[in-house]
Amino acid sequence: MPEKTKLSIKTVGESVLARKVREVPAVTDEHRRLLSAMAQVMYEVKGVGLAAPQVGIEESLAVIDIGTGLYKLVNPRIVSRRGRQSMEEGCLSVPGIGVRVRRSRSVVVESLDENGKPLRIEAEGLLATVFQHELDHLNGTLIVDRASVIERLRFKKALVALKNRTRTAQDQT
Ligand code: ZN
Repeated sequence: MPEKTKLSIKTVGESVLARKVREVPAVTDEHRRLLSAMAQVMYEVKGVGLAAPQVGIEESLAVIDIGTGLYKLVNPRIVSRRGRQSMEEGCLSVPGIGVRVRRSRSVVVESLDENGKPLRIEAEGLLATVFQHELDHLNGTLIVDRASVIERLRFKKALVALKNRTRTAQDQT
């Protein structure tokens, strides 16, 4: 990524959001710059998490901050899960659509940090949901993919409108 390139958020309908990312073989300065840039974008738009595909990058990188501290994650994966919870979730890539998603109530995540050191994070409640949401992005899964059949009906029109808007924006570039 050229240093001065401003990251822009991809929205539903762009194929990068539906693809699985590749693992990062070694954490480089470029990854560190990217993670910082992603955190900056996340704070600017007042999000609580951002995954690399959301800025068009197909590598296993994500940032998370629910107000309790910033996590910069490289190759994160969930190694254990417990319990169930469901929360109404929003997504910067699916603006205007909220989806109630059933997820694990607590998760243990293993990841590398921005220096390539192993991290182990135990998360529960909102933080657990955000981890699962961001890791879903790395597998090409969006909240709308996790919605129930009934919920899909509720936001179907809005989703079609969003995808059309994405398509039009792509045609213009
Ligand atoms: Zn999201």
